[in-house]
Amino acid sequence: MTKHFSPLAQIDVAHHLHAHTDLRLHEETGPLMIARGEGVYVFDEQGKKLLEGMSGLWCANLGFSQPRLAEAGYRQMLELPYQQTFAHRSHTAVAKLADKLVSKAPEGLGKVMFQSSGSEAVDTAIKLISYYHNAIGQPGKHRIIARHRGYHGTTLAASTLTGLAPMHNGWGKLLDNVIHVRCPHAYRDALPGESDEAFAARLANELEEEILKAGPETIGAFIAEPVMAAGGVVVPPAGYFDKVQSVLKKYQILMVVDEVVCGFGRTGNYWGSQTMGIKPDMLICAKGLSAAFQPISGILINDQIYQVIADQSRKLGGLGHGYTYGGHPVAAAVALETLTVYDEIDIVGKVREIAPLFQAGVRALGDHPLVGEARGVGLMAAIELVADKATRAPFSADLKVAERVSKALVRRGVLLRAIGNSLAMAPPLIIEADQLEILFVAVKEALDEVYAGLQQ
Ligand code: PLP
Repeated sequence: MTKHFSPLAQIDVAHHLHAHTDLRLHEETGPLMIARGEGVYVFDEQGKKLLEGMSGLWCANLGFSQPRLAEAGYRQMLELPYQQTFAHRSHTAVAKLADKLVSKAPEGLGKVMFQSSGSEAVDTAIKLISYYHNAIGQPGKHRIIARHRGYHGTTLAASTLTGLAPMHNGWGKLLDNVIHVRCPHAYRDALPGESDEAFAARLANELEEEILKAGPETIGAFIAEPVMAAGGVVVPPAGYFDKVQSVLKKYQILMVVDEVVCGFGRTGNYWGSQTMGIKPDMLICAKGLSAAFQPISGILINDQIYQVIADQSRKLGGLGHGYTYGGHPVAAAVALETLTVYDEIDIVGKVREIAPLFQAGVRALGDHPLVGEARGVGLMAAIELVADKATRAPFSADLKVAERVSKALVRRGVLLRAIGNSLAMAPPLIIEADQLEILFVAVKEALDEVYAGLQQ
């Protein structure tokens, strides 16, 4: 018997095991099959037009119609579809991409290694941190500090760093070298009456206490997203990273910034590090690097780290790390073209122009009786739905309130993502004012619908 028939594929869609999905529920519901994309919209197999308010997974920054990126990939496939980058081998696409990315990087980050996903780049960062500390005679500095609600991916090391329960539950023992500290979310974690500055100072004190408890000689690095994305779009309080970095400096702990979502304009600067005043020793990027047209990620390092690992690789006969598809020519060619397009259309200027309208729309949703907090920066935001605005009491998770809103939005032709009790928004960076209007009208209507349902 046919269960979930795809008219386009002409098959029952039954054999694909879906990530981050309730697999039994999926057996019932089947997938939402997306057939094609155009501008900031995607279309399902029945032809229904959906505004992609999440840029897929915070990544389709240029939307879905960029023939230049397609042509760059096609040209590269005809010319040199594959070339490895181990052991002194290279090719023009990866060399040019490295050159361009380094020219855009925060000061001091002069070398870049490429991989295929954010998680791989995070894993590489963790390994390089150990490699570096081993080389300078501090092998004990193998622990990493991450934050609750931070998201860094789902390879073994990245899952361990991620501070979200679904990435830990049921998987058995992950790595034991990660310490999680408090999430900088004032709405949930600040004390009553605590100012942003006092909250930031308390978080920095807590970080220092954790470092002293574990022993500074055991801590190699601190990893953070400038603005937490998958944790529910958490914008840290002013001064937070300044204070955090003073503590890190005191104990020679490296600052690793995870720009997988925030990089390439999302927060209104080229890097989230600029928006949040971070001076990274290492920077991880992916997603927007190719506007999601190809899987590619990068890890940038400063010269101090480079010099140490270069000497060590000489001593040990080579840097024993790398992936078959690291620096893949097709992905590199598409990423290079993406960065060129960003320059030509002034992507940062574009975000700065539209972001005030977007953030005003988000803040206006804060007046809705279901919304406890409306927050965000640049073109990323979330609204947190609460059972009681005055006490900030959350809805019980099994009510799945944010998910209900997101389903009501699909019926209205808008794709957004429920994260716990929050609804996240991160539209393509090329979104226009009239498309934002469509998005906000739909969100308001969906909130009204779910609110009315909850009153019954
Ligand atoms: N880091 C951050 C901040 C992310 O948001 C993600 C993915 O969403 C990752 C790392 C992992 O990237 P990937 O899914 O490409 O492995």
